[in-house]
Amino acid sequence: MSLTAFVSQRVVFADGVRAACVLVSGGKIVAIAEESPSGATVVDCGADALLPGLVDTHVHLNEPGRTEWEGFATGTQAAAAGGVTTIVDMPLNCLPETTNVAALDWKRAAAAGQCRVDWRAWGGAVGSGGHGNSGELEALARAGVPGYKCFLIYPGCDGFGLIDEAELRRAMPVIARTGLPLLVHAELAGPCEAAAAGLGDADLRAYSTYLASRPDAAELQAIEKMIRLCREFGCHVHIVHLASGKALPMLQAAKAEGLKLTVETCPHYLYFAAEEIRDGETLKKCAPPIRSAANRERLWQGLREGTIDLVASDHSPCPAAMKCVGGSFRDAWGGIASLSLGLPVMWTGAVTHGFGLEHVARWMAAEPARLAKLEGRKGRIAAGYDADLVVFSPEETWTVTDSDLWFRHPVSPYTGERLRGRVKRTFLRGAAVFEDGAMIGDAAGREVRV
Ligand SMILES: [Zn+2]
Repeated sequence: MSLTAFVSQRVVFADGVRAACVLVSGGKIVAIAEESPSGATVVDCGADALLPGLVDTHVHLNEPGRTEWEGFATGTQAAAAGGVTTIVDMPLNCLPETTNVAALDWKRAAAAGQCRVDWRAWGGAVGSGGHGNSGELEALARAGVPGYKCFLIYPGCDGFGLIDEAELRRAMPVIARTGLPLLVHAELAGPCEAAAAGLGDADLRAYSTYLASRPDAAELQAIEKMIRLCREFGCHVHIVHLASGKALPMLQAAKAEGLKLTVETCPHYLYFAAEEIRDGETLKKCAPPIRSAANRERLWQGLREGTIDLVASDHSPCPAAMKCVGGSFRDAWGGIASLSLGLPVMWTGAVTHGFGLEHVARWMAAEPARLAKLEGRKGRIAAGYDADLVVFSPEETWTVTDSDLWFRHPVSPYTGERLRGRVKRTFLRGAAVFEDGAMIGDAAGREVRV
């Protein structure tokens, strides 16, 4: 079998960055060497860094059912352009929602032949007023989902019921038996409703109004509840898209206690700040909301201390009209599309906070791979792993334009932002899928079955 040698002065390993030669054969990394053996085809990265392909565990591709918002073809090409070689798709916003095996099979049929990167699908754990799907969870595990997503608050679309404590008490023992994680959108409705009631006829175009309607307390109370249930049921709880830095002390304490708890945040919480969001700038609406600049620094500190394990995009696109740009934050769809930009966005912030590429690779490749049960296969440059590789130019600075986005609708708050670091080439299982601003080859991505 032919041997390819990826040579770089800056190969990003789990324990640091150094010059190396990554030997690839049959789509796998077979060895790490000091120099390329004779006869190998050499891919010389020159001055660029070589990173493991990123694993993004929080992506909404919306297919089948809402393919006009996004889809496997457009979403996975954005992933390839962003150096993301594995995505894990969320179980909602698609139709049907992925809450049973039949729906999972629909999604598999929809994805077939369309994907430029590898993928998996989370299952959903839903409540629906006492008619939840706890009876479907074990079958979903057997059918191949790596875990389950649930909402403690209305998820923005009908059809994916939020889960209350009674239903969590049915679902969590089942999930604990599967050994899979329960991913939780951790906001509670109570504090949001109380806050909204106090806002009276405040200006709905003002970001401050939206921010006040989703207070820190909504996250804090939800997380408190999930820590309590995590302790009671021993079920792995993963807090998705943490936005409030005020939750970090209790999360740190819960981890120190030995609870099976992991935490994610998103590039937009680490990059943007509430103080800079103008009235009507609804492209920056997401839930939980982007909070203050001081809060943003707390989140960076959470990464530094290891309380936050990973960074995922929460890529949640929609047609442009649904963002109501210039209009009301209440009417705009809540979601930020960023799948193709996560690496440079994170690197831009990482540099100013004193982090290295090995930290970014841990947050965006190794740790998400572990969450999605892909450890040993994805997320690291090491022998035996899939040869998912990204050639990244860390010093290049550039300004984001619509043509850099690659998802279905060129609607993103990052357009016009000046970023540091650029993805030059992306390889999926040893084959180029993105190179110098263009897609390469066929849609060779497939579902990862373990
Ligand atoms: Zn999401």
